Amino acid sequence: MIVGVLVELMNKNVDRIFDYQVPEELTSKVKVGVRVRVPFAKRTLEGFVLEIKETTDFHETLREINEVLDDEVILNEELIALGKWLQKETLATLISCYQVMLPKALKAGSHGTKKYITVYHYIPDNNLSLTTSQKEIVACFKDKTTLSSDDLKQFSTSRLTTLVKKGILKKEKVETYRLTYQKEGSSNITLTELQNKAVHDILTDSHSVFLLHGVTGSGKTEVYIRLIEDTIKKGKSCIVLVPEISLTTQIINRFKNRFGGTIAVLHSALSEGEKYDEYRRIAKGLANIVIGARSAIFAPLKNIGLIIMDEEHSDSYKQENMPRYDTKQVALERAKYHHAKVVLGSATPTLESYTRAIKNYYKLVELPSRIKGVSLPEINIVDMNQAIKKATFHFSLELIEKMKEVLSRKEQIMLLLNRRGYSSVIICQNCGFTKKCPRCDITLTYHKKSNLLRCHYCGYATTMNATCPSCHEKAMKPLGVGTEKIEEELKQLFPNEKVLRMDVDTTSNKGAHEKIINSFAKGEASILLGTQMIAKGLDFPNVTLVGVINADTSLMLPDFRSSEVTFDLLNQVAGRSGRSEKKGSVILQTFNKDHYAIFCAKENNYKKFYMIEMKNRHMMNYPPYCYLVLIHIASKDEEVALKEAKRSYQVLKKYLDKTIFLGPVPANIFKKYNIYRYQMILKYKKQDNLHEVLEKLVKYYASNNKVKIDIDFNPLHLS
Ligand code: ADP
Ligand code: ZN
Repeated sequence: MIVGVLVELMNKNVDRIFDYQVPEELTSKVKVGVRVRVPFAKRTLEGFVLEIKETTDFHETLREINEVLDDEVILNEELIALGKWLQKETLATLISCYQVMLPKALKAGSHGTKKYITVYHYIPDNNLSLTTSQKEIVACFKDKTTLSSDDLKQFSTSRLTTLVKKGILKKEKVETYRLTYQKEGSSNITLTELQNKAVHDILTDSHSVFLLHGVTGSGKTEVYIRLIEDTIKKGKSCIVLVPEISLTTQIINRFKNRFGGTIAVLHSALSEGEKYDEYRRIAKGLANIVIGARSAIFAPLKNIGLIIMDEEHSDSYKQENMPRYDTKQVALERAKYHHAKVVLGSATPTLESYTRAIKNYYKLVELPSRIKGVSLPEINIVDMNQAIKKATFHFSLELIEKMKEVLSRKEQIMLLLNRRGYSSVIICQNCGFTKKCPRCDITLTYHKKSNLLRCHYCGYATTMNATCPSCHEKAMKPLGVGTEKIEEELKQLFPNEKVLRMDVDTTSNKGAHEKIINSFAKGEASILLGTQMIAKGLDFPNVTLVGVINADTSLMLPDFRSSEVTFDLLNQVAGRSGRSEKKGSVILQTFNKDHYAIFCAKENNYKKFYMIEMKNRHMMNYPPYCYLVLIHIASKDEEVALKEAKRSYQVLKKYLDKTIFLGPVPANIFKKYNIYRYQMILKYKKQDNLHEVLEKLVKYYASNNKVKIDIDFNPLHLS
């Protein structure tokens, strides 16, 4: 028996299948999809068996595998094919495509530990000559035949052992899982007419992909739950994808209370052991509803009937390192294999998805209003060009007045500022000098608590010094504003109010995110201040005011999606206000009140925004009017980087005749981790040989360890 093995080695040069002989005694244990240990050059590596065959094209004597590592198949047939597809789509290494599917505990070197508990089985035939004390133990079993050692913890082990020796109890070690989900309470929500229609449309229509366009609070999640119930009844399984940041206890509880122990949850806050357990529960068919962030799309479910992607516009669905996959594309591929339905849900769909829905590639299903006649919050724009004169710190008079009013009613407030840290920039008031990261060429951000200047790309940090290194004046001062600074201002403006701050800095510890949310939900604070982290998915019925300190921060980014990102963000955060009977309002402070992203957000008018933005995209030839590829060519040697960038450009231009090239130019962050980077943007509508040509380019550089080439299909950001 010969096996084709893909070894777990992050080296693009050996990223292919190697043949090995299977020694006679291991043949019964070898299956496609298990891991094995194999000799490789002078060492021993782990790898996946991807093929079993009788012959090989290799001419020398094959080496033998040393060991089979798994009893159960780790990668099933579908996932093996999916990995190969993913490799073709992203041009990443094949091994990275499989590693991205698996929890860390199943990767080379780190072996997951299973957790065991002791159980006792009761053997009824033998209970003739029992002492009173023994009868006491047997009585515990009543209508059950098996109890765990925990259930019997009031009895000493020696008493239990006596019964085991008599053959009345049988002791056994069984595998257990770290997480369990129990149904608590039940919900008897009757769907509204619109929700019913949405469910009906999705169940009966022959499309395979649906776009559920529903304003925030329109009851999309209830629609998902109904669709899942239907799918489970048909004996099929479901994947529910949620952006990592909205995967809170709030949302998990809604699914848990409906479906109990049949759900599995996959997200980054789990320990490695928990992830390992959840993964095996899914693989064994013990869970048939998987709720998770991006990587949950690779859950080893069988017989998938439905894939839901909530907040389909979220940028968290794109993986930003190898393999740079788009979760939506993977979802569509898996759905094709399983003949499953895909439901994309959003209040602000991507322009790409909405265009597909209008063209009827996807079926458009709409939920245009909030549940139970709860109206959308009123949005007021404060023109900061005027309001700045009467403002205190960064708070306009209008915002302060409204906050006072809401606080006097004992209601709660959420404040958004999409920038963490104390202030974004430290600038010399004398000569204009700003300090940049020596590795990344971007401005450092000031963090007051630690008195550090930090690089938000690579984490480089240096202490803040008031003396300017350029003109030597003591004039280095903060410019602009971050969440930490606003928190300080709030303390002065509202000294009696408790404020919670939620941003990357306050949520870096495990469970911190959850703790802030729970505390705010319990009403322990009246104001929740945060970055875009607070914008998504949260549901606090007592929040009646959302204030946006500066609606412009994302509008100024040098990115063709900045308007879309701003509109989405404002829409999301506004949706946090007035979610129950109490009427909510929103105040947006902006210096750009006439920008369409701002006034369309005010009007809550997605369709208007879509029309205007589509015109711009058309004019500038951006997606969805074309597709983009971003290519980075990098080297430690600046000259080599430039030379190879130019050379790749010449070659690509020759073969990709229907493609527009921008660049090569130095990347926005020219120097990152001491590596010089050039970039090229490719724009095309139809270029059939694109993947083929780019694959050749990647292969060409695979053996060149001086140059690194990185290809990003449908990039989110162009830098
Ligand atoms: P979305 O996912 O679109 O933001 P949700 O499904 O979270 O909306 O619904 C918003 C709120 O309305 C939730 O508190 C939910 O429990 C409630 N809700 C949804 N559908 C109904 C219904 N048919 N009847 C009563 N309450 C509902
Ligand atoms: Zn840096």
